Amino acid sequence: MVVHPGMPPGPAAHSAKTLILIGLILQVVETAVILSFGFLFIFFSVLALFVLPIAFIMIIWLVCVYLFSYRRTSDGNYEGAQAPTLVFGILSLMTLSIVSGILYLIAYSELGTALNQAYRPQEFWGAPPSNPGMRYCSHCGRMNAPYHSFCEACGARLS
Ligand SMILES: [Zn+2]
Repeated sequence: MVVHPGMPPGPAAHSAKTLILIGLILQVVETAVILSFGFLFIFFSVLALFVLPIAFIMIIWLVCVYLFSYRRTSDGNYEGAQAPTLVFGILSLMTLSIVSGILYLIAYSELGTALNQAYRPQEFWGAPPSNPGMRYCSHCGRMNAPYHSFCEACGARLS
């Protein structure tokens, strides 16, 4: 679920976004180092056959972190960003990208906080209009006069 676009992101969302960005930049640097080693090895070592595919996987990884973690967070889709950020954090730790891994895990917990902050004002947006005596059609949204049993607009039974 995407948070209402009119709502300003809270401090937790900001810090989640910043943490993911720093983690991502660190891994861009790691990828650049691996990639340049790969190209260096091309000329004199069979190691290039191992290093270049790893660099290629790392580039795909960076795109995934950007799309599923960073973009979703900056679009206000904290719920959608949560699970990928957790997975990226755990995978980073497992592949010895320790600093980025820790940053992603902190970002994951900040996303949870951002989600709580974002949904509190939902009480004001989501509630159907309360008009004394009028009967609200949950099917089409029309307000019907109190004596109606069925909706004037769509014919649905009014509960
Ligand atoms: Zn209706």
